[in-house]
Amino acid sequence: MRVTILILTGNARVVMGRLVMKFGGTSVANIDRIRNVARHVKREVDAGHDVAVVVSAMAGKTNELVEWCRDASPMHDAREYDAVVASGEQVTSGLLAIVLQGMGIQARSWQGWQLPIRTSDAHASARIVEIDGAEIVNRFKDRKEVAVIAGFQGINPHTNRITTLGRGGSDTSAVAIAAALRADRCDIYTDVDGVYTTDPRIVPRARKLSKVTYEEMLELASVGAKVLQTRSVGLAMKEKVRVRVLSSFEEGRDDANEENGGHRGTLIVGEEEIDDMERQLITGIAHDKNEAKITLTAVPDRPGAVASIFTPLADAGINVDMIVQNVAHSTGSTDVTFTVPKSELARALDTLGKAKESIGYVELFHDTRVSKISVVGVGMRSHAGVAAAMFKTLGERGINIQAITTSEIKVSVLIEEDYTELAVRVLHTAYGLDAEDTAAE
Ligand code: ADP
Ligand code: ASP
Ligand code: MG
Repeated sequence: MRVTILILTGNARVVMGRLVMKFGGTSVANIDRIRNVARHVKREVDAGHDVAVVVSAMAGKTNELVEWCRDASPMHDAREYDAVVASGEQVTSGLLAIVLQGMGIQARSWQGWQLPIRTSDAHASARIVEIDGAEIVNRFKDRKEVAVIAGFQGINPHTNRITTLGRGGSDTSAVAIAAALRADRCDIYTDVDGVYTTDPRIVPRARKLSKVTYEEMLELASVGAKVLQTRSVGLAMKEKVRVRVLSSFEEGRDDANEENGGHRGTLIVGEEEIDDMERQLITGIAHDKNEAKITLTAVPDRPGAVASIFTPLADAGINVDMIVQNVAHSTGSTDVTFTVPKSELARALDTLGKAKESIGYVELFHDTRVSKISVVGVGMRSHAGVAAAMFKTLGERGINIQAITTSEIKVSVLIEEDYTELAVRVLHTAYGLDAEDTAAE
């Protein structure tokens, strides 16, 4: 439901709405940048909008806090990890509220437990279950107070302990708050001015997308485009939250009234909002260096063998991504290769070592110097040859493919890590995504 109030001022029609504005780590990296954020907030407040702001920790802060936990003990208690890493957002939410107050804007900070933002008990990667936005809305109405909410954190209501939402989780905090407040839009301010066809820091010729569908963004995020946390896109799609990605380092008029069309940044929208002319075969390319490859040799070729590998891994809560199993010939055994998150590698090797007898493999190898490259696009549904073009392009550059997975709108390959940037660049060109190509059209 759109919550808007129309005000007639002479000939101009001003649409006032409710906005969630999220600012990532580089946008709040120091006090000067927090002042810059406050100016963005002021602009929206001055335009008459009710504003809830969600902030990340200062750039690098969460990494430092995570490192301290590891230093204190590699096998630390996840509840205490959450108590430590949630502190980065506590600092920035308080600082932004102070700066806003100094500019004469009513504002207060909210920690996850204060609203509260209730989550599951999965410490370090908790899911938001429920948000109580009533008090924020009351304060919008009573005194136009800006809510400055610490991203990334919530509370487990059963144990009263602080939880965090997984790395990059402030995006999910913002979308969830936008859904709870029935905001007109959730603006994700970051250090790039939108979602690009690939990471613009790797391919300078990457092209900015003015719109991208939830489905494509979900797929891009899940295969490594870290501009939005995957869960935030899934939630936006489910709750139909309009999301926009834009830069906090650009001034520019901000058209909260989308009816005039000229929005900055990239809008994440339903498929019906993208007309056929705008649709490309491939929307984007992403890479992910966070997976490790495991190979088990000479696994007996019999029913149940594959289950004997993946059941203990599933029981240990380890997600397996790509899987390659060769067909056994005369030997009666086969090699099985698959990938797991690098952060889970040690546990996966330990689990497989313990299950050696029940699986019956001969050797266990692993390789962390791998990278997953994915091409994503809804156009793939109706076009053959996307995967073939990918394999050909990589082959011509001498890049060997170690594993492949596909979905309806995605093809992923595993390659040697050293070739990551080259692979992304040549594929970007091969699919006609380079910015020059568009200019020439
Ligand atoms: P924040 O701290 O604001 O949350 P992140 O570092 O999490 O920012 O995400 C922004 C970064 O995402 C950009 O700096 C960019 O390098 C990276 N990125 C990866 N893929 C893409 C893409 N397809 N489009 C835009 N940015 C991307
Ligand atoms: N500060 C947290 C992180 O670095 C959450 C976020 O920035 O989204 O992962
Ligand atoms: Mg982020």
